[in-house]
Parts: sequence; C-alpha cells; structure tokens
Amino acid sequence: MIKFLDLEKINALHQNALKVAAERVINSGWYLMGKELNAFEEKLCTLTKAKHSIGVANGLDALRLVLRAYIEMGFMQAGDEVIVPANTYIASVLAITDNYLVPVLVEPSPDTFNLDLDLIERHITEKTKAILLVHLYGRVCWSEQLVALKDKYKLKIIEDNAQAIGAQWQGVATGNLGDAAGFSFYPGKNLGALGDGGAVTTNDDNLASLVRSIGNYGSKVKYQNEFKGLNSRLDEIQAAFLGVKIDYINQENNRRKEIANLYQRNILNPLVQLPIIPNDQREHVWHLYVIKTKHRERLQAYLTENGIQTLIHYPIPPHKQLAYKEYNHLSFPLTEAIHEEVLSLPISPVLTDAEVELVIEVMNNFGV
Ligand SMILES: *Cc1c(COP(=O)(O)O)cnc(C)c1O
Repeated sequence: MIKFLDLEKINALHQNALKVAAERVINSGWYLMGKELNAFEEKLCTLTKAKHSIGVANGLDALRLVLRAYIEMGFMQAGDEVIVPANTYIASVLAITDNYLVPVLVEPSPDTFNLDLDLIERHITEKTKAILLVHLYGRVCWSEQLVALKDKYKLKIIEDNAQAIGAQWQGVATGNLGDAAGFSFYPGKNLGALGDGGAVTTNDDNLASLVRSIGNYGSKVKYQNEFKGLNSRLDEIQAAFLGVKIDYINQENNRRKEIANLYQRNILNPLVQLPIIPNDQREHVWHLYVIKTKHRERLQAYLTENGIQTLIHYPIPPHKQLAYKEYNHLSFPLTEAIHEEVLSLPISPVLTDAEVELVIEVMNNFGV
C-alpha cells in the first residue's frame, strides 16, 4: 500500500534529532515562550529573509492574528472587504469572517488553480482593504501587476503560506512577498510539527509587535493587557521539533520536485490532465500534486484497488459549506468544476522511486 502521506516515515528521518530536542525541552522546565521558540523564529527569518517571525498556535490563528492586528492598527474595521480565492481551503475564509470582515471570493485561473490576478481589479471597492493570497498546493501566486494594484488602491497583501514554505518568486521567498504572511505547521504540511503550529512573518515592526502581543492575551508586559487578545502560542516542544526539521526543508522540497517531474514526464493518460507548469518565475514546491479528470470516482477507486491512496483537495468549496449558508447561493463555476474533478496523488520526501514508478504505471493503465 502506498500511503498518500507517510508521516511516520517522514518523522523517522529525523528521529534521533527529534528525541534529543524533546529531551532538551522536557529537562529545561520551560515550556512556553522560551529559547526554542526564539531559535526557531530566527531560523524562519533566515529562510524567508523576513525581518520578523512570530510563532503562533496554528495556521488559522496566524491569518486571524494578522487581520486582527490590522484592525487594531486602524487600517481596517468590521465590514471591510478582503479578496480571497474562492477555491482555497476554508481556513483562509474563516480568518476573514472571524474578524467580522467580508470575504470577496474570486475565481482561480484554471491553469494554475491560483487566484486569477486579472479578475482582482473588478472586485475592488472603497471597502477593499486587503488581498489574502493563497499559494495553493505549493505554487507561488505573485506578479508585478499585483504590486501595482496594491499601490494603486493602498491594499495590504497577506500571504496564506500554509502550503508553499521554501518557494520563491524571483529569488524572494514566499512569506516575504506581501505585507505579512501566515504559515501552518500542521503535521501534513511541507514543514510539519508533531502537532499544531503556525507562524506569522512580516517586515513591519508595528504589525509584528501587535501580533506577538495579541497572540499572548493582548499583553506585552505580564498582567498588563492592552488588547482583548487570544491565547495562540507555539509550544517550546513544537518549536524545538520545527527547529530540527526546518534545516531540511529545501532538501525535502527538492525531492518533491523530483517526484513531480517524474509524474509530469511519465504519466501519459489522455483521461488525465496533469498540472500545468507556467514557464515563469512562480516556483512550485508541490505540497500537493493535483491532477484533474472527468472520471475521478473511477480513477480513485482504481488506484485504491491497486494499493495507491489518494485524497481530494478539496471536495467542497467554502461557499458551498453549511458553515457559510449566506454564500451557498453564489456561483463560481470554475471553482465548482475544480472541486468536482481534482485528485491528489501521493507526493512526499519519503516516496521511493519504485513507488513513484508504480503510481505512474497504474495511472497509465487506467481506462474507462
Ligand atoms: C493548512 C492550511 C491552513 C490552516 O492551517 P492550520 O495550521 O491547520 O490551522 C490555512 N490555509 C491553508 C491554505 C492551509 O492549507
């Protein structure tokens, strides 16, 4: 059986270092907001070249905290609009609605699955304050045109970088392209903790200080609360684990790229549409390898019969979820078609060449 994602095997790669890190934290007697967090934050700054990084409890909180900080700064207020791709994972949208802001859902490009940058401008109103960009599936979503829009309308660009840590656009890392970014270290992400974790990166001193304080009960000085904050901190033990694993992120992303290249070159089944790789600067670090097919149910069953586990990212778009009844009437044909047709093949740094070859063979043997 080829697992979609073998987390046990992934963490076994780093087993000794993870044990040393765990023991160090256990013996330190200090479990929150300490040396491990500082050291990991420094490493994330080195990776992204962002001036600040703030460890938080998870990826959703990272995005919630950025928006909340912009509200505290007076840059936006309840009722203001934030542009977000309609086909993102629901967390991006939740971060907006949790802050009483209004998500303006915009269709993706059918080629990249990322926000269609040509559609943004027609959705901008006097209430638009930010674009929440998502580097979906690990592919960078960025262009010069976007920077021009940001300047023209004085918008903030917030990156949802849950899926594309380590990716670059013209030598600039995701997490350092926009005004601020949220990262997730959910175990299945390219940089995964052994539990929940997240981070915010930014070059804005004021924003960084607000995020740090709001995530810690709205307090900079113990027992003095400037804001109605929340409790969203990255544990020392998770920071220590992440500090081990972040050293391998580029190497592990490179292995993902090798696997994606093998799939791209060798899966030759006319019933399947492989990811389209634009010949430009938008790097892809392959958090997910997502194909499209009109025969998804049958293909998934065929792969399962042949010992290959696949997943669907995602079966239901945010605007069709029960949680968003107020948006259920909206129509996003491209987004809905994507959700009907996508299937994610196994991809991870621990997939062997033999396993990749088997996936290719089974994919090529599939017929209807
Ligand atoms: C995983 C993910 C999140 C949320 O991260 P958590 O750590 O699970 O809260 C947000 N946005 C996207 C695109 C994600 O994939």
